[in-house]
Amino acid sequence: MAIDIDKFVHDQLSLWPAVAAKYRALKSTSTRTMPFGGILVTLQSNPGRVPIFDHGCPLCEENYMEHQHTLPFEGRKGRKYNILVNRAPIFPNHLVITRDVHTPQTIWHRFPDMLDLAADLEGYVVFYNSPNSGTTVPQHAHFQACPKGYLPLERTAERLLRTLAAGESPDPSEIEYIDAVRDARLYHYKRFNRGIFMLRASTAKSMAKMFYRLLDCLNLVAEETEPRFNAFTYCSEGEYRAVVALRRESKPRCYFAEGDAHFAISPGAADMAGFVVVPEVKDFPRITPEVLRSIFDDVTLTQAQEEHLLWRLVRTQPRVEVGICRGPVIRFEIISDGTMNWSSKPSPSPPFSPNPPSSSMARKVKNASPAR
Ligand SMILES: [Zn+2]
Repeated sequence: MAIDIDKFVHDQLSLWPAVAAKYRALKSTSTRTMPFGGILVTLQSNPGRVPIFDHGCPLCEENYMEHQHTLPFEGRKGRKYNILVNRAPIFPNHLVITRDVHTPQTIWHRFPDMLDLAADLEGYVVFYNSPNSGTTVPQHAHFQACPKGYLPLERTAERLLRTLAAGESPDPSEIEYIDAVRDARLYHYKRFNRGIFMLRASTAKSMAKMFYRLLDCLNLVAEETEPRFNAFTYCSEGEYRAVVALRRESKPRCYFAEGDAHFAISPGAADMAGFVVVPEVKDFPRITPEVLRSIFDDVTLTQAQEEHLLWRLVRTQPRVEVGICRGPVIRFEIISDGTMNWSSKPSPSPPFSPNPPSSSMARKVKNASPAR
């Protein structure tokens, strides 16, 4: 069911002058574009971006501001969300989609909700910041959404995924096929930054499977609950499409530097998609491709991390073959390089049996399949 979001935003802003003023100010905000890493990055000077946190969790209903309206959205398994107009906008019609209960930000189990949202919010891209990857409210689960066409990486993804969906081959130096599950494909985008993946799928189920398979190949930072990344999903040409930008750090070194080396840039999903928000007016004219390179290098995967991830995604599990063995106990160990040590205790009574041996062989081969 498509949601009439334009009407919701219009009605909300007509009753909320303070926030309506911020949306009006967006129209006259300074922006400039910069060719960078194979895409055309947008820089936006946005001093109004500093969020207003009055008291408590800003995404809990009891702390909504006086004029805040909500539009209900139902996720899977009874999970309920409220769609809100973002009070610190980067885009026109910038939405926050927040769980109706105070529960930590996580993508486990909730990616299908994100896909359902993308299907319902026609003309929008739904995006997600994992904890430690640009969200200011990691304590309360939420997504965001903006109209299609603003995020440079989304425009690039759409151009490439359209080409692939048409059965044509884009430039292999730009995008490379990595893996597939039923009805879903995973590609590595090789420009802009390291650790960028693009996905397309004909069903939400397959898209979720491919997405979680990618996350499964990532390492967690100690004591964190999910990998660091930003994700974007939308629907186009009857497919679900997504971009995932993997992260190493939450903030770049320049954020903590002093003097001229300081830039108050803390990349969230928009920045990782090439729409760089510059909250400090004095920083805006000082941003050069070199500054951007340093910022993105600090927060994205290292080359070694990317290579290791690609290896994990494409490696094929070695097939293990052993001679026929039997015994009451068969022990084996698979070494990390795929070789296997095994031993069996001699069977106390090994007479010839015309029946097939016990299922120990089958179990061994089964156990040799990749561990998730
Ligand atoms: Zn909350």
